[in-house]
Order: sequence, then structure tokens, then C-alpha cells
Amino acid sequence: MTFPAGFLWGTATSSHQVEGDNRNNDWWAWEQEPGRIYGGQSSGLACDHYRRYLEDIELMAALGYNAYRFSLEWSRIEPEPGHFSVAALDHYGQVLEALRARGIEPVVTLHHFTLPLWLARAGGFLNPEAVERFDRYAREVAAALGREVRYWVTINEPMVLATQSYLLGLWPPGHQNLFETLRVARHLLLAHARAYHRLKEVNGEAMVGLAKHLRVVDPGRPGLLDRGVAGLLDYVFNWAFLSGVERGRLPLPFGFNQRVPELLQTQDFLGVNYYSRDIVFFNWRSPGTLFAKMEVAAGRERNDLGWEVYPEGLYRLLKRLQAYGKPILITENGITTGDDLARQRFLLDHLRQVKRALEEGVEVRGYFYWSLLDNFEWAEGYRARFGLVEVDFATQKRSPRPSAHLYGEMARKNGF
Ligand code: BGC
Repeated sequence: MTFPAGFLWGTATSSHQVEGDNRNNDWWAWEQEPGRIYGGQSSGLACDHYRRYLEDIELMAALGYNAYRFSLEWSRIEPEPGHFSVAALDHYGQVLEALRARGIEPVVTLHHFTLPLWLARAGGFLNPEAVERFDRYAREVAAALGREVRYWVTINEPMVLATQSYLLGLWPPGHQNLFETLRVARHLLLAHARAYHRLKEVNGEAMVGLAKHLRVVDPGRPGLLDRGVAGLLDYVFNWAFLSGVERGRLPLPFGFNQRVPELLQTQDFLGVNYYSRDIVFFNWRSPGTLFAKMEVAAGRERNDLGWEVYPEGLYRLLKRLQAYGKPILITENGITTGDDLARQRFLLDHLRQVKRALEEGVEVRGYFYWSLLDNFEWAEGYRARFGLVEVDFATQKRSPRPSAHLYGEMARKNGF
């Protein structure tokens, strides 16, 4: 199987999950509260990637990967409102340089779940002012790094952020309120649009998009009720946000379909993070989740967190994205497992589905395995092991798993 010339074979990480010592953001504060993180863990030094980035980039190069998606830590860049750290911006400049020097294409995310503490204390994305704050942050980043980067992701998984933090209460600030969730989604749409224009002002050639978590949502039973809630959930969680961007409107239920001209067509590529599928049943006792009850398909392979492994779902989603007529990057796809053979199978099975979509004309330009390293998996702490490279958190020793080499071989051969 040969992939198109120039295909990006990358891995992905995010600042808070790998850098270590990110003490000035909302997650750090959250981790210190009892009961928030599995086993009472906290991110601590994580993979110490802020200091060890060169070693990690050299490892990627040695393994043969030609792309790397990472995120900038807003709380390092803007530790106090309006005060931008030259040192932090320089640091990320050096990361970019190190990648370029080894022929690794960077894909840079502005926001991957964490907020500077000062902004979290002011209400985070629940507060409409966050849109202005994000705009200012994006402007500074664009001025410092805008010319060095071709692929930008403004916001990682806006709907995951909104639901985990404001609907399910599992992430900071731990609210459980549907109206707040919709309001946060609305503000994230507006913030995305601002950042898009800031990045394009500096470099019109840049490809700017967002990383949208997409899940396959299938009805549990063929009847109208399950099909209805599955359709509703699919629309609200998967497609409403993207439709808002495409049409330049605040879509229902995030708004009332008002026009927002600055939002129109603010994505040059589609970023998709794909992990799993939900089987959905109508349940009148779950109004907070739009009357949907989610289950995992019975009798199928699962990862260590219990999510179904469903490679064909990636193909199904890519086919739906084809309608947008834009290039696609698979900005995340991965498995947490203690069994590396399962990880190798996962890679082969998912990339086969990517190839299948490519053959049917879907313009996929790259694939980013989540994650390069074992890292801090949010509320799940360090028990989840997504890495191609195993990390011993006591010594910070990196040990590439067989899957890391398999993936490198695919990257080198541009296929398998
Ligand atoms: C997120 C990552 C996370 C991964 C695995 C995605 O939802 O962007 O931060 O580690 O999934 O759960």
C-alpha cells in the first residue's frame, strides 16, 4: 500500500501532557484537589519534554517520522494578562527550528485544553472576554512564530473541552450545566475565528484549522427513538461546530443561526481526532445528555480504558468529511494498551482504512498517532499508555516499543 507523495507520518502530544511543571494553569490547580485524578496523581514533571525536547525530536527523526504535532502552553507564553514571555516564545521557536533541521513538519496547536490560571479565575471560556484574550494571545504567537509554521490548529477538540468541563464535570472547572456547555461552545467558535485571522494576517500561505474530535454514533436499536437521539447527538457533538465554521453562523444549539461573517470558511483543512464509537439508546432519564445513553458495542476489542477499537469508523468519518471538499489531517488516532501487539494491529488496521478512503478520492494529507510518548492522560493520570515510546516516569528513560519501529518503517516506505 503506497500513500500519496509527501504524506505526513507524524505523532502528536500536547503541552500539559508532556512538558512537566506547568504550574500556572487551571489543570495544575485542579490536580491538587483530592479525587480529581485517578489514583490521586498529578502531572508533575510529566515527560519533562520542555527540557528534553531535543532528545525527543532526535528520537522521532531516528525512528523516521516526518511530522510532529504539539501544542503551545498559553500559561507559559502569557503568565499574567497582557504580559508575554519572550523566553517561552523563544523556546517554542527553538523547538520549531530543531524540527525543521531534521525535516520534520510541525503542526502547532494554540490551545489544547489548558488555560492560564488568571483566565480560568476570570471564568475561562464561559466568559465572553475569553474571546478577546484568545485573540490577543493568537496575535502575539502569530507575530513571533507565524512565519515558521505551515499547519496551525487553533483549538483542540472544542466539544470535548466543553462537555468534559461544563456538562460532565470531569475536568476543570467541574460544572454540570447544559446551558453553560452550549455557551462555551459558542465562545470557542468565536475564539477560533479570531485566531484564524491573526495567523493568516501574518502568513497568508499558512494552513489553519482546528482538531475536531469525531466519534461514530450508531443507534442501539433500529427504532425511531434510538435513531433520533443518535442523530441528535451526532449533530451536536460532531457536526454543529464544523457547520458553524463552514457557514459562518452560530448554529443551533450554540446560537440561533446568527451570521458571524468573520467565522465564515475559517478552516483551510479539516483536522480530525478519531478514537472510538458510541452505541446510543434513548433514555428519558438523561435529559442532560440530550436523552441519550451511551454504551460500548458488545463483543468487540477494547482499549485499556474500555473504548471500542473500531477502525472502520475512521473510514466512515473520512467519507463524511469528503463532502467539505477540503484537505484532511488525521490530527490524532491512538490506543492505550499494555499489549503492544494490539497497538501494532491498531496502526495497521486504521491506516488500511485511511488508504481505503484515499482510494475513493478523500484528500488525506497526513496521520498523527496519539501519542509519541506515554503521558499524563488528564483525569486518568498516568495509567493510560498511549505512547509508541514507553516512558519510565521515575528515570525519564524513553524506550521505543516495537510499534514505534513499525510506524517508522511505514513512514520510511510511505506505506506498508
Ligand atoms: C485529546 C488528548 C488525549 C487523547 C486520548 C484526545 O481527546 O486531544 O489530549 O490524551 O484524546 O484520550
